[in-house]
Amino acid sequence: MAIHNYKLGVLGSETEHRKYKAYTLQNFRELPQMELLSEEAKFAMEVVGNVFPFKTNSYVVDELIDWDNVPADPIFTLTFPQREMLKPAHFDTMAAAIVSGASTDEIRKRADSIRAELNPHPAGQMECNVPELNGERLNGLQHKYGETVLFFPVRGQTCHAYCSFCFRWPQFVGVDELRFAMRETEQLAEYIRLHPEVTDVLITGGDPMVMKAKRLAGYVDALLNSDLKNLSTIRIGTKALSFWPYRFTTDNDSKELLSLFKKIVDSGKHLAIMAHFSHPRELQTEAAKEAIAKILETGAQIRTQSPLLSHINDSSEVWAQMWQEQVSLGCIPYYMFVARNTGAHHYFGVPLVKAHAIYKEAISSVSGVARTARGPVMSSNPGKIQVLGTNNEGPEKLLALQFLQARNPNWINNPFFAAYDDKALWIDELKPAFGADEFFFQKEQD
Ligand SMILES: *Cc1c(COP(=O)(O)O)cnc(C)c1O
Ligand code: SF4
Repeated sequence: MAIHNYKLGVLGSETEHRKYKAYTLQNFRELPQMELLSEEAKFAMEVVGNVFPFKTNSYVVDELIDWDNVPADPIFTLTFPQREMLKPAHFDTMAAAIVSGASTDEIRKRADSIRAELNPHPAGQMECNVPELNGERLNGLQHKYGETVLFFPVRGQTCHAYCSFCFRWPQFVGVDELRFAMRETEQLAEYIRLHPEVTDVLITGGDPMVMKAKRLAGYVDALLNSDLKNLSTIRIGTKALSFWPYRFTTDNDSKELLSLFKKIVDSGKHLAIMAHFSHPRELQTEAAKEAIAKILETGAQIRTQSPLLSHINDSSEVWAQMWQEQVSLGCIPYYMFVARNTGAHHYFGVPLVKAHAIYKEAISSVSGVARTARGPVMSSNPGKIQVLGTNNEGPEKLLALQFLQARNPNWINNPFFAAYDDKALWIDELKPAFGADEFFFQKEQD
């Protein structure tokens, strides 16, 4: 069957309103493209989709995924659950539950017990970083590094599609006590006023770009009207340029949204869109290019970041191409992250030594203007740790690391060393060099 019949989306028209349609566990079998997959493959998706969040949409399906290349296609892997994301024992217990016709309740219980074994809260996000105002915990804020406060607006805690690897997965699977979110914008403004070290607010999620422009304006206006002298930058973390670029072009309130961006810029603050791009394909549609151009016209800047992921973008050519195309479109490459040690980490994780090799090869093949991306970086409990490289000159083969951000600012930009280990995927799998018991920051943390 000619796959081209399935390409329902058409590139082009700038004014036509694009209708968003989500595909989830409940309705993914309705997709005509599913005829290309075996029943076994669809059943595997159902099994895995009961544990990890599963949502894709009409744009991703019609414009980004190359169905001729499925199942290897990187964007297919990005939003459709893959069998190997569950370890065999977990896969089998969930598969058995589904086959035996277990109740929704029983399936949910099984899913919860599997999830609990998958480190749902890496880097101590829940316990360590929630700040207080007048003795009250502000559950919608995280404040870990002095300059930047993270704000999780309650209506921004979902996304236009879900990345299969996402470390925020606990908040999409309906386990309410795992969510952190906050309603009170006034508290945010008050908190920033009382913390003069704060220069940046990062509005994040989920994806805050799922919010209507009016709702986002409510938060932004509260910040702008509070006359916060210390606040210089508003950042918005989003994957909408990849998952729903029409947010900035043809959605009913896209003009209003762009006016809000312009209003922030006109107020004298810097607006930084922290855009998540996993693969160059996401930059290549007319819709994405147009959305980027429209955002830049407002005076905002777009900085880009993504984790490095096995099966999606674990090649230096992919990163070099992605950075070059981003620069051509006027975006600024910012971070290459190491996949977090949560969820299906055994499937997506890339060893630190390999991650560094990919970064090194990619960065050395692009010009200086694209070398603004720093990586590979682990966002770990003590801070953002960058792998600087390997060293084999002394008696012991070493990995050099440094903090780019840290709980203690004195730790930043000082190299430290771990014993070389080409299998380690995360800082807690590395051993300090020179036979030390602990890394220097572990001593200071105790
Ligand atoms: C990455 C991160 C930030 C922002 O760090 P920058 O290096 O300024 O981009 C802020 N807070 C937390 C918790 C982070 O992980
Ligand atoms: S868009 Fe961001 S928050 Fe949403 S699923 Fe992907 S990585 Fe997670």
